[in-house]
Amino acid sequence: MTDIMTPIQRHRCMSHIRSRNTKPEIKVRQWLWRHGYRYRLCVKGVPGKPDIVMRKYRTAIFVNGCFWHGHGVQFTMHNSQFTIENSECCRIPQSNTDFWIRKIQSNQERDQQNYRILRENGWQVIVLWECQLKPKYLEQTMLRIEVQLHDYYLATFNPKDKSYIHVEEELPMAAEDMAEYNV
Ligand SMILES: [Zn+2]
Repeated sequence: MTDIMTPIQRHRCMSHIRSRNTKPEIKVRQWLWRHGYRYRLCVKGVPGKPDIVMRKYRTAIFVNGCFWHGHGVQFTMHNSQFTIENSECCRIPQSNTDFWIRKIQSNQERDQQNYRILRENGWQVIVLWECQLKPKYLEQTMLRIEVQLHDYYLATFNPKDKSYIHVEEELPMAAEDMAEYNV
């Protein structure tokens, strides 16, 4: 793709999207959009601010960075001995270790709390990790998500409840600008 933006436009665009539209999240959204799924972003009233909300499937998707959300890192306290078990995709830094432990641990706790609230309210929670969205895993990961969407939809389907029909279309939708987000 040719870069047709001026530096100022580019800056404006990047600073606008920096906070939420992280690259792994865009990959997921593009895949869903290409396969005909519609979703919304930044939905008020849905706990935990999921990255992608699919009301029809009553599913909230979180796209988590492996480091910040501590993918696979285990903190354990045993006989007053605190141990950290790092994982392949998240290693607690050797310097400022206490700060990072607190940071990652509280992120993990907050995530779990958000997922729990959503599940208690009848939402399916899907957590996608950055490492599962690498090019060689992306298709496989997304096909699994597709199965989860349909399974949950069928499991919770109520033929008397027609409110799911057009529910995504009624509300302003986040249309994807493919040129802008073509990554
Ligand atoms: Zn990971």
